[in-house]
Amino acid sequence: MNAEAPVIVTGAGSGIGRAIARRLLADARPVIITDINEHALGEFRGSLASEVLDRAEFCRLDVTNAADWEGVVERGRARFGEITGLVNNAGITRDASMLRMDAEAFDVVIATHVRASWLGCKAVIPSMRAGGRGSIVNISSSGRHGVFGQTNYSAAKAAIVGLTKSVALEQARYGIRSNAVAPGAIETPMTNQVPERVKATWKETILLGRLGQPEEIAAAAAFLLSEESSYINAHVLDVNGGELHL
Ligand code: NDP
Repeated sequence: MNAEAPVIVTGAGSGIGRAIARRLLADARPVIITDINEHALGEFRGSLASEVLDRAEFCRLDVTNAADWEGVVERGRARFGEITGLVNNAGITRDASMLRMDAEAFDVVIATHVRASWLGCKAVIPSMRAGGRGSIVNISSSGRHGVFGQTNYSAAKAAIVGLTKSVALEQARYGIRSNAVAPGAIETPMTNQVPERVKATWKETILLGRLGQPEEIAAAAAFLLSEESSYINAHVLDVNGGELHL
């Protein structure tokens, strides 16, 4: 269903974004695979079979740059037609307890998650409106509830929920849905640096007793991008193995 509908995925050179792009390609959807990290994009391209590459467009995109967004949307439209899906996934962390965190670390995390997701919606929605439909998936986090050492990241991930719902309010009349996926702890390069003893404490709070895999987030994103979720809108879907302490 909906196989011909193109999707832009950000931060798709690594981790969750790569898994989402891989899943969408497997579902036969055309995918505009973007990342700021061109090396990661090249490596991802090299891992794909040639028949899948026919549906993949690789573009460098710094999600904080409005001009980059315009260029990517134009390239995607030129190759595949109007854009019908957007996954605002790119992200960074700059952790420190609040009194040790400088304002630059706060600003860059807010910019990369919140301002960038706003820029992405603004750039892509005109194409979705032209095509008469669309589904936006913003990647929030369990961290939106508050995390020690992540005042910047936690604020950003909570703000993404407000952005998601406001976009849903404004765009529903044009056939565009806007939802968020909120992953728990997922095994990616972002969490690889976390010491095992810290991960062990995380597992104690997760009902399933393990970290998640990027493919488990990709399944949720693919569902929200598809017509299978046609009556789900302005929703935050937790994918966290069960974190009842939240
Ligand atoms: P990764 O670090 O593995 O991947 C993030 C990708 O985004 C990297 O390729 C990174 O490039 C890229 N990126 C960074 N800044 C920009 C930018 N300005 N423009 C475009 N791309 C950029 O992270 P994950 O896959 O773990 O995380 C993906 C999303 O999921 C993030 O939004 C994250 O906050 C969220 N998330 C992750 C969780 C987890 O446990 N892993 C839990 C909850 C949410 P580079 O490598 O060069 O920095």
